[in-house]
Amino acid sequence: MSRMFPIPFNKPCFIGNEQAYIVQAIANGHISGDGPFTRKCESFLVENLKTKRVLLTTSCTHALEIAAILLQLNPGDEVIVPSFTFVSTANAFALQGARPVFADIRPDTLNIDERALESLISPRTRAIVPVHYAGVGCEMDTILDLAEHYNLIIIEDNAHGLFGRYKDRFLGTFGSLATQSFHETKNISCGEGGALIINDLEFLERAEIIREKGTDRSRFFRGQVDKYTWVDFGSSYVMSDILAAYLYAQLEAYRLIQTRRQRIWNYYYEELRQWAQDQGVLLPFVPAHCDQSYHMFYLILPSEKDRDRMIDHLKSHGILSVFHYQPLHLSPMGRSFGGKPGDCPVTEQVSGKLLRLPFYNDLSETLQEYIVEIIHQFKTI
Ligand SMILES: *Cc1c(COP(=O)(O)O)cnc(C)c1O
Repeated sequence: MSRMFPIPFNKPCFIGNEQAYIVQAIANGHISGDGPFTRKCESFLVENLKTKRVLLTTSCTHALEIAAILLQLNPGDEVIVPSFTFVSTANAFALQGARPVFADIRPDTLNIDERALESLISPRTRAIVPVHYAGVGCEMDTILDLAEHYNLIIIEDNAHGLFGRYKDRFLGTFGSLATQSFHETKNISCGEGGALIINDLEFLERAEIIREKGTDRSRFFRGQVDKYTWVDFGSSYVMSDILAAYLYAQLEAYRLIQTRRQRIWNYYYEELRQWAQDQGVLLPFVPAHCDQSYHMFYLILPSEKDRDRMIDHLKSHGILSVFHYQPLHLSPMGRSFGGKPGDCPVTEQVSGKLLRLPFYNDLSETLQEYIVEIIHQFKTI
């Protein structure tokens, strides 16, 4: 039993062919980017998500940076992002001189509140970046209507939501662009990695150039130009084929991975439902028109004090839980862009009360049974 402790919050899980494919990548003699495994991953995602083009990148952060460069932002341009998200969602656009404008979230799904968006749109607004929190779709019908009406570009940060759907359409296929993460903490991983999904092909040619250090190397490799040169802004955003080999093993097995995660999520939900109701704790909410990606399981405790007591309670029984996100509008950078307390009340509330339970592909029912038993011992104040 003691070897199981502490129960980590996350751990990398192998699905089968990772090692064999890495060996094959080495044998292929192509370990830089855009090799055979990169092509396999990209076409796999194109076919399975029903999108037009996918470019593997070194991270989701870098895919967001490519998207931000594609926007050709001018100083003072504004990009609307949720305050309740990972830093990169805002930083990628700030890096290109834009001012992030922070939107609050819905209290039920914790997704960007589409009802709050219109009042945040100004003549300087260029884009909205919805984050499908926990892999549950944002209200894309409303967001797309606003984008069309105000001529804004939608970039989905779909780091949580690979294979999730909104009204039967895959997350990541609504915006002109979308980004994926294959970081160790995500459902499908290669340690560090990401992808840019290109739903609007107008962006493809420049995206390829930006990803290749500002050169037209991709056209050169296709034989469209006879030498390659510096043609635009860019950086080094191409994933090594060794990592793509690892990633392909996981992508090929995505149904198995998703089935495992669905079991884990459902187990937590069923076993904690009554306790949560009795203790005034909120569990995740998934609207009927959304198929979630089973990325995480969280609890919202009645107070910050209860949340911190729960973290300690779990820790004292060898269970590691974590919380996130610190509201971006109240971070030192967020404040420098004008964020102040009270701007996003739901974000400010939820951020202090949310806790994420251990969730990784190999988490066994035996361990979950133990985690649930320890949670059941906890009484809120
Ligand atoms: C993980 C995550 C990112 C960053 O992903 P990396 O691949 O680590 O750069 C961005 N946005 C959200 C919402 C995330 O959860």
